[in-house]
Amino acid sequence: MRKSMVAGNWKMNGSSAFAAQMSEQFNQHAPTVSSVDVVLCPPAIYLSQVQGDAQGYACAAQNVHFAGSGAFTGEISVAMLNDIKCKYVLVGHSERREMFAETDAIIAKKMAVCVAASLVPILCIGETLVQRNNGEAFAVVKRQVLAALEDIDLKTNDIVIAYEPIWAIGTGETATPEQAQEIHAYIRSVLEAEISLEVAERTRILYGGSVSALTASELFSQPDIDGGLVGGASLKVEDFKIICSAAAN
Ligand code: PEP
Repeated sequence: MRKSMVAGNWKMNGSSAFAAQMSEQFNQHAPTVSSVDVVLCPPAIYLSQVQGDAQGYACAAQNVHFAGSGAFTGEISVAMLNDIKCKYVLVGHSERREMFAETDAIIAKKMAVCVAASLVPILCIGETLVQRNNGEAFAVVKRQVLAALEDIDLKTNDIVIAYEPIWAIGTGETATPEQAQEIHAYIRSVLEAEISLEVAERTRILYGGSVSALTASELFSQPDIDGGLVGGASLKVEDFKIICSAAAN
């Protein structure tokens, strides 16, 4: 039985006051969503603050560098995340792939350093609209998953996968529950075929792409959807609470 997870990706939004409000709200909300792992992903500058206040939720960094330390201006390392007791890291978000030229090879390196440092990477994958219309969605997600897992042993380590069709991110257009379920089941079948049934059954696969308080429940009721990675709606406290509660059902 996989525990549900809902992760709120603030992207480059928020403030110190917003971070304090979210911490307080989600510490209070924790008892009603105890069957869900609630994860807040603030910008790096607020990560230490939000992690320091965490009681009823965990934190994820939005990004990490694959190098251990050194001359990488603007970057943060896995050791720094361990230092502040941050548990999760988003890896390969489509915005980083597109705007910051993150390749499958870079993502594989990041996955490897996260796992080696006992951080749990939340691997983001998903196809563009053109790829979907060309019938390439399955091939794209398979390629992204296998490339990212190249250097890690999933039999002894946990990761989370977030299927986020790029055409649904920040667009208000959500994949239908059937469309999402079809790809989630496929990703699980790839894990089974390439690694093992145990890994396929244990690995949580989240859906992301314009999840809202209205759409969450139906999406999360699909058998292979284990919760969500939520962008815009995670900035609205009441909406994000509803989404977290929907994963608890
Ligand atoms: C995301 O940033 O991962 C995301 C899914 O954003 P949104 O919910 O706004 O589409």
